[in-house]
Amino acid sequence: MQVVFPKIGHFWQDSGLVGLVKILEEQEHDVTINTDSQQLILSGSGQAIQSLLEKAYDAVVERYYNVSTRKQREETPYQFYYDSRLDRFISFPKKKSCGIAEIIYNKAARPTGSSVKWVYKSDRKVELEYKGKKIRRTVAHLPPSHAHLQERMDEFLNEHGLDITTAGLLLDGPNAVRPNVKIKAAAPLKKAKGNCFLCGQPSDTFEEATQTTFPLITGTSGVLSFNPMARNPEKVCWKCAFLGKFVPANGFFYTAGKDIFAFFPYSASLNKMLDAFAPLHEAEYQDPNYLCNFDNKIKGFFYHVFEITFAFLYTLYDKLFLRQSGGEEKSGLLNYNELFGLLEDRAPLEFYVLHARKRSDTFAVKTLWPFRETGYFYRLMFRVEGHETPAKTGDNREAAGARDGETQIRGGEQKIRGNRGVQIAEVMRLLVDYRQENEKRTLMRNRICERILKKQSILDLLEKHVYSVETSYIKPLVDFLLIYEPEVRKGDSMTREEQDAAVTLGRRIGTAVAKSEQGKKGDLFALRKTRKLVDFLEQINRLQFKLGGDLIIPPDLYEGKLTQDNFQEFKQFCLIAALNSYYAAENESRK
Ligand SMILES: [Zn+2]
Repeated sequence: MQVVFPKIGHFWQDSGLVGLVKILEEQEHDVTINTDSQQLILSGSGQAIQSLLEKAYDAVVERYYNVSTRKQREETPYQFYYDSRLDRFISFPKKKSCGIAEIIYNKAARPTGSSVKWVYKSDRKVELEYKGKKIRRTVAHLPPSHAHLQERMDEFLNEHGLDITTAGLLLDGPNAVRPNVKIKAAAPLKKAKGNCFLCGQPSDTFEEATQTTFPLITGTSGVLSFNPMARNPEKVCWKCAFLGKFVPANGFFYTAGKDIFAFFPYSASLNKMLDAFAPLHEAEYQDPNYLCNFDNKIKGFFYHVFEITFAFLYTLYDKLFLRQSGGEEKSGLLNYNELFGLLEDRAPLEFYVLHARKRSDTFAVKTLWPFRETGYFYRLMFRVEGHETPAKTGDNREAAGARDGETQIRGGEQKIRGNRGVQIAEVMRLLVDYRQENEKRTLMRNRICERILKKQSILDLLEKHVYSVETSYIKPLVDFLLIYEPEVRKGDSMTREEQDAAVTLGRRIGTAVAKSEQGKKGDLFALRKTRKLVDFLEQINRLQFKLGGDLIIPPDLYEGKLTQDNFQEFKQFCLIAALNSYYAAENESRK
């Protein structure tokens, strides 16, 4: 027989489908597993398919739902149960669901075996003497049916320093976190009771699409509300309910306090999603406390959705991309063409970004955002890091990267050449405002990352930032800006020549102010304060008088490069460059 799981075109369910395929492939089985761009097809005997799906479910539960964090493993007391077959007491740490699985199912662990109630349990810890040592623990008595185990149980508790935390003795199984599912692969379809709301297939076994089965696509906090008119919840088939539990296998996540940020690779083609799985999950890393599952290459604290998205995308880039730089090779899985093939061939690879905040026992979705510009983002990183594009004719993808490694400011004194690229981690660190507290420290960084991810100018924000933080070093920020801005500026905004003129002027001013006896940092602030073009020019005049021969104004300032229309942006470029050159000259003279 065949059991088909269709791809329904929703990132959540399709993540579950990818997770299911990957976990099925890990199991031993005699089922034929086939996929195409739109579905998973399992062929084999009903019993074989049923047992494979059950094994896959056990595996997904043990990996994501029924786990112990390092904190839980180190925390005493462990709980314990009595195994009647082995005639032994066995201890186990507390369990919980973690990461994306916690969004799906965050209920307490329940007994997997049975339990017998204590006939007596002390309401506080009692002091006992054991092998000459004093210990304190709760005392409980077994009922007559199990009284023969009492002495051995007490010995086990004392020996291992355990305490009694349950209402009875657990028998033949620990407590475990395990969401209920129905797996009905072997049973032939009885009379269909209707069609599934999600996949549209007829089914005889339905589950209500409620908050507990589909936390992210139902209810008031749901991403897709099934139930806008407070009607009865929609019905979904057992397969869709089952797939929903495999979502954590495809996703990446990062937690900050009560906030969880999750990233789901997505593509219109199932096979593309499956092919991308292995390389992407090279970046996977198991945090012992399950606070994240990727090793953020940009160290430090992150609190907000766009800065974390940036850090996540950069981490993938760093892990994946084998790049040449100044004769050195940076280890990674894929070369330039392979990387952009992964991102853009067949159906493009996108990421769904989800931000949810934990409330008492549920999660509220704050943001859900499809990021579709992966190709743009990775080309930008490539250029910013100053790599040379591999020469290869006949590939039009190269055309976009043709300027790599030669980003330079024409007419400027300083050139940013290939092999001397900007360190992204340093840029991100310099965007932190350390005078602020906690999550306020990175608010500006978050706004700037949002602009970058959305391909918008960061000029005004960066100018504000560099003039408000306490630092004496902003060079990586300026280098980044000068590569980035021309990438996203189009049409009627400033030309490249105007930008260069502004930067050149700024550099001369900054250097002159630092080097001249008469100059002081306040001169830059005075220039920055000017609101009108005439005031700006007047202030420059005043500086020229003050600094004398130290400041030579480039003639193109008066030759149409600075206009009424571009004044604001011209001034911002100029002042960022001025501050950078000021710090550079100051640091130089201190040596
Ligand atoms: Zn369905």
